[in-house]
Amino acid sequence: MTTEHAIPDSARSAAGELGFELDEPTWQQLARFLALLLERNQTTNLTAVRDPEQAWPRLILDSLTVLPAFEDLPEQARVIDVGTGGGLPGVPLAIARPDLRFTLLDSTGKKVAFIRETAETLGLDNITAIQDRAETLAHNATHRQQYDLAVSRAVGPLPTLLELTLPFVRQEGWCLAMKGPRVEQELADSGDALYKLGAGDLRVIDAYPECFENDLVLVLIHKERNTPKTYPRESGLPKRSPL
Ligand code: SAM
Repeated sequence: MTTEHAIPDSARSAAGELGFELDEPTWQQLARFLALLLERNQTTNLTAVRDPEQAWPRLILDSLTVLPAFEDLPEQARVIDVGTGGGLPGVPLAIARPDLRFTLLDSTGKKVAFIRETAETLGLDNITAIQDRAETLAHNATHRQQYDLAVSRAVGPLPTLLELTLPFVRQEGWCLAMKGPRVEQELADSGDALYKLGAGDLRVIDAYPECFENDLVLVLIHKERNTPKTYPRESGLPKRSPL
């Protein structure tokens, strides 16, 4: 049986300081997701975070820090989470924004199976979970340049990540990468990738106000031009030999 963990007051107050309001049913859904994730994590490797107290800030709140970037997305806009693993940030975002359509992509079957079961259990009919490699799916016409926004967390250094995400984004759409403190170096290494993949303006945003001890950084990239058909290159190449 799944153990539900109480929603810590610190999570509720952090949400206020981060500038988003969630109603009680949404908090309860997030708690149910976290309980399912931590339970399955005992047998299937879904996340390195195992302590429920750590899980609220590091898994749920971190995921929700990107919500302000979603504010202007119209109802039914399409969002893809590339390399979602156990559903982060995709599942918390799908819970918080039931009006948007989410595709959660991962190459690992067990992770995708968990997300499908979770979406069914929680009644999240705005989630489609797909098992595939980004290098393959991004050449499929149903997914190539079809998304208003691509998000990703902990999937690799920025030059690699851009090749796995930007081909999914439509012209004038957005790519949002959740990064750590080494982002400046990654950005310095990303010039070629940004240009070749069709990126335009880029903004680096601290995900948390200064009073939080958290160094999550959001890189928000506007897509200006179409991505040439040559990208992404064959499976494994974006990682082995970044642009
Ligand atoms: N985003 C999740 C999180 O923050 O917990 C998972 C991060 S995990 C470190 C990276 C995930 O990306 C893994 O689940 C892996 O299977 C997936 N992944 C890596 N390369 C991929 C690719 N080319 N296509 C699809 N999934 C990929």
